[in-house]
Amino acid sequence: MIFKRSRALFEEARKYIPGGVNSPVRAFKSVGGTPIFIKSAKGAYLTDEDGNKYIDYINSWGPMILGHNHTEVVEAVRKQMQNGFSFGTPTELETEIAKLITSFVPNIDKIRMVNSGTEACMSAIRLARGYTSRNKIIKFEGCYHGHSDSFLIKAGSGAATFGNPNSPGVTNGTAKDTLLARYNDIDSVQSLFENNKNEIAAVILEPIAGNMGCVPPKKDFLKQLKLLCKDNQSLLIFDEVMTGFRAKLGGAQDFFNVQADIVTYGKIIGGGMPVGAFAARKEIMDFLSPEGKVYQAGTLSGNPIAMCAGYTTLSILKSDLDIYDRITQTTKILSTELKAIFESAGIQICINQCTSMLTLFFGISEVSNFDDASKADHDMFNKYFHFLLENGIYLPPSGYETWFISDCIKEDEIDKTLTISKKFISSI
Ligand SMILES: *Cc1c(COP(=O)(O)O)cnc(C)c1O
Repeated sequence: MIFKRSRALFEEARKYIPGGVNSPVRAFKSVGGTPIFIKSAKGAYLTDEDGNKYIDYINSWGPMILGHNHTEVVEAVRKQMQNGFSFGTPTELETEIAKLITSFVPNIDKIRMVNSGTEACMSAIRLARGYTSRNKIIKFEGCYHGHSDSFLIKAGSGAATFGNPNSPGVTNGTAKDTLLARYNDIDSVQSLFENNKNEIAAVILEPIAGNMGCVPPKKDFLKQLKLLCKDNQSLLIFDEVMTGFRAKLGGAQDFFNVQADIVTYGKIIGGGMPVGAFAARKEIMDFLSPEGKVYQAGTLSGNPIAMCAGYTTLSILKSDLDIYDRITQTTKILSTELKAIFESAGIQICINQCTSMLTLFFGISEVSNFDDASKADHDMFNKYFHFLLENGIYLPPSGYETWFISDCIKEDEIDKTLTISKKFISSI
């Protein structure tokens, strides 16, 4: 496969854009090599600037659950565009999408639209702090909630009870209010609650982790968290930016039957346009301005084109609920077959699969938290990544990421992925 034009475009991009990309993971730093520049996409496939075609297992990091360039969504957006791009006023469409989403999820009454998952999570913790009049939050190592300061925190060393900045530019003052727990380890959360009595505003997590690779919650972990939060008058925040409208129409809350106090959305909610949202029951949402005192705003929030793409995508999902069984089944087949292929070749592998998300972890038998994920053989993943790329299959360019299955990935795409994976094994 020839990547000539992508390489040239990357060189040019690096002159004008830091690292040549507008979001770091796209730069292939983790897997090495140079990123491919995509020109267009349709259904299950991406086409790059050199004319190479790939089966897409990223799907824009989740939003394109229906596959790329879905005819109905394109048509709806085309029509909407003729009315103008942005007004900075209320529109009927915003109420329509709010009604639709709150109808999917029984425990949310109101929803506020923003422009990214980052904004959604940042606003959700401000709301939780305003509502509880407390400052500290608990997050889990390996969970990602966007790049706002409060979340760019790593575990403190040794006896330190608070977090440390994970990026220059994040102040110690901010870091001290974010406490780090271990995913799937309820005791780690319990002890943070004990050591910070009446100080924790909220616990935030990905109900199915996807940003350390796919790591599903252990049985009852979410229910236990819910109880701990209730006992301590803290709010439970589910970051459903990835799992919202993917795990089920009602998200991971619906899938696991655990109700959070605040829920954040992103990715699928915009159908490929830049959208995020956060939602809760009325009594919490009414703390938000202009109703309440917690400030939050956005010039382009609820943008009509973005709302139209999101509304149409969500309506299609609602009208075809079998999609969830279909894509889960596809994902199960893919992970079961891949596991069999690697194991029969004597290669140790752990494949975490939950709904239509999966991740391959080489050289390890179980991954249930960030420590486990970092012990996996990432060099092996990087080789696998490049072999598949060379053979027309586009995986997320890091062993700490989740593959997202779209409704356009069918038997042919699965068969090809299995065949190329077998070739990979013979090549090493
Ligand atoms: C992608 C993601 C975010 C951040 O969303 P952006 O739109 O990239 O700002 C937050 N939380 C989770 C769980 C995500 O997967």
